[in-house]
Amino acid sequence: MLAGKRILLIVTGGIAAYKSLDLVRRLRERGASVRCVLTEGGAQFVTPLSLAALSEQKVFAELFSLTDEAEMGHIQLSRDADLLVVAPATADFLAKMANGLADDLASTLILATDTDVLVAPAMNHRMWLHPATRENMARLEARGVATVGPNVGDMACNETGPGRMAEPLEIVAAMERYFAADAPLAGRRALVTSGPTVEALDPVRFLTNRSSGKQGHAIADALARRGAETTLVAGPTALADPRGVTVRHVESAAEMLQACRDALPVDVAVCAAAVSDWRAAEAAAEKLKKPDDGTPPTLALEETPDILASLSAAGNARPALVVGFAAETEDLIANARAKLARKGCDWIVANDVSAASGTFGGDDNTVHLVRRDNGKDGAGGGGDGGDGDDGHDDAWPRMTKQEVADRLADRVAAHLAAQP
Ligand code: C5P
Repeated sequence: MLAGKRILLIVTGGIAAYKSLDLVRRLRERGASVRCVLTEGGAQFVTPLSLAALSEQKVFAELFSLTDEAEMGHIQLSRDADLLVVAPATADFLAKMANGLADDLASTLILATDTDVLVAPAMNHRMWLHPATRENMARLEARGVATVGPNVGDMACNETGPGRMAEPLEIVAAMERYFAADAPLAGRRALVTSGPTVEALDPVRFLTNRSSGKQGHAIADALARRGAETTLVAGPTALADPRGVTVRHVESAAEMLQACRDALPVDVAVCAAAVSDWRAAEAAAEKLKKPDDGTPPTLALEETPDILASLSAAGNARPALVVGFAAETEDLIANARAKLARKGCDWIVANDVSAASGTFGGDDNTVHLVRRDNGKDGAGGGGDGGDGDDGHDDAWPRMTKQEVADRLADRVAAHLAAQP
């Protein structure tokens, strides 16, 4: 549930700050990316270096830092997160939050953000029970700030009472609960193919294509961010593995098919890979020699296995929803409909890959979602309006591959939710 989530962790000045190092580790293990902000007080307890090493990201500390502002303005820093977490949150910092003070980077971020905030208070029990803190907490809660802890127990100051910061795993659980509301694919399994395949002709030569894998990787990321347990079967690409996704790296169509079969059962399969259509009927074991007389060799080719068709015909193991892609340079919709019938899949994302569209290798995509069910399952565009869904096919405006991925993942979630 935390996979792919971007967390902004604010560490303020309490002894519990040492536990925040473990919190960063736990969040990273779960596939979240964590960017840390350290207050002056926080830096008395943990070092920026420890947080940077564990988060593998730069740590931000100063409001008026020219270099920090040049790299990432503080407004951007607060907006680039899915959740802000303050752990530990001292009595002083909670008071600043409650009163809207903005006299350092951390408090300014809280005031500037439109993202939700979770606080893990940590302080002496008398401070926690003090009417001032009670009033501050009531104000924050009324404003929608979520709280985890504090726990009752022995404290660093040798007293006992409520004030111990929640344990890192309790904070993780609170974050998971927060995101669960936002995880329509929780409990679902997804399979995505992406990138090209590489078919050997001999040990040094191969057949392949120009697919960048950007669209498929973005779809795996979008499904995982919605809570699906996602496997990405990827041909060779220059892209980093998406966080929180199980990635199987393959080369040939045959390997891709096997990796897909190994990933079953899944609820949804999205075949975005540009699988080579042909491979050598018999790949040469040794490098093909260049004949002395210069005669070019004749290559005997055979068809590769069709992964999309194979998943669509997988009997009991067939995913509830199988989605294919159709890269077309002309007659987009007619060709997509023919492909839908030929492959036996449920939906086709038809994309225009004519040279003029700049789709291959580019960041944008212009697609049509063509559905066998004619969009009568509630997963169509009618619900969110404005995308031209006429109940038969769904024309999406030109958007980034990331936006295509998000919209497709939303459609998948709505479709699966509507199934009995
Ligand atoms: O037949 P065509 O290559 O145009 O079909 C494209 C769709 O079929 C894509 O979803 C692609 O991932 C899938 N495909 C496949 N295995 C193949 C060929 C295509 O999964 N061998």
